[in-house]
Amino acid sequence: MTRGAVALGGNRGPVAQTFCHALDILRQRGVSLVAQAGLYDTTPVGAPDDGQRYLNSACLVETRLSPRELLDELQRVEQELGRVRGVDWGPRPLDLDLIWYGEVVCETPRLTLPHPACWYRRFVLEPLGEICADWRHPDKGLTVVELRDRWRCRPVTIALAGGTAAWRERLLREPSAFASAVRLVDWEHRDRGAGEEPGLIAWRGTPGGRAETTRPRAESADPGFRQLPADRRLDVSREAADSDAWLTFLAQSVGDEPRRVGTLELED
Ligand code: ADP
Ligand code: MG
Repeated sequence: MTRGAVALGGNRGPVAQTFCHALDILRQRGVSLVAQAGLYDTTPVGAPDDGQRYLNSACLVETRLSPRELLDELQRVEQELGRVRGVDWGPRPLDLDLIWYGEVVCETPRLTLPHPACWYRRFVLEPLGEICADWRHPDKGLTVVELRDRWRCRPVTIALAGGTAAWRERLLREPSAFASAVRLVDWEHRDRGAGEEPGLIAWRGTPGGRAETTRPRAESADPGFRQLPADRRLDVSREAADSDAWLTFLAQSVGDEPRRVGTLELED
């Protein structure tokens, strides 16, 4: 049997009921439930202002399924409980993400482990803190609690690195929707004495270099990226080449405070 952590989210329909239903189905398909976190009310990331709020939770599971088989099972349950695929960041009755699975580290088009965004999304870290506080992220070298507590101060700092000075200056000038929660600084010109130690460094790639990495979510092999502190660097070169929307997603992921609103009523 291998242990793993699954994150749950949803913002359509009776979400808490859907979570219970999903966990019931999983238990009938070779996935046993070891621990269950509470329910958190969170702001939808990347949705327009009128987007319905999310409920998030997480659970610890044990299974003989391979990571790929477990992901297949999670996606089957998403489908069965009404998820319409194809709309990125769209409203959804149920989202099931595999956060970690044993010691497995992998990156394929269908499955990345640990989940690439788990180390900075508060709506994942807060519930995870209840069920696997001591789990250590293999790349970041920090436990869930250490990663979680990074975002429990106001404001949190995101540093911009790489790209051109003009790119960094433009983003720093733009008014932020999360100004009270998130402060942006230029990594090259940060004020080390002023408590500006960033919780995350968003790296834009080398000017003139290829923005794309070969694999979907791979971290860059560029020396400019490699020299950044491994526990907080994030390669945004691919996303930043498209639009500034990634910055909104990031600011919301680290800036929004998940509110614990209850627990799941699971049957034995
Ligand atoms: P998200 O959960 O990021 O909002 P989706 O649920 O639509 O987005 O998933 C997008 C794709 O991410 C899926 O098709 C899935 O194959 C892939 N994926 C890669 N790694 C994981 C993982 N660890 N857990 C869940 N999905 C993953
Ligand atoms: Mg998902």
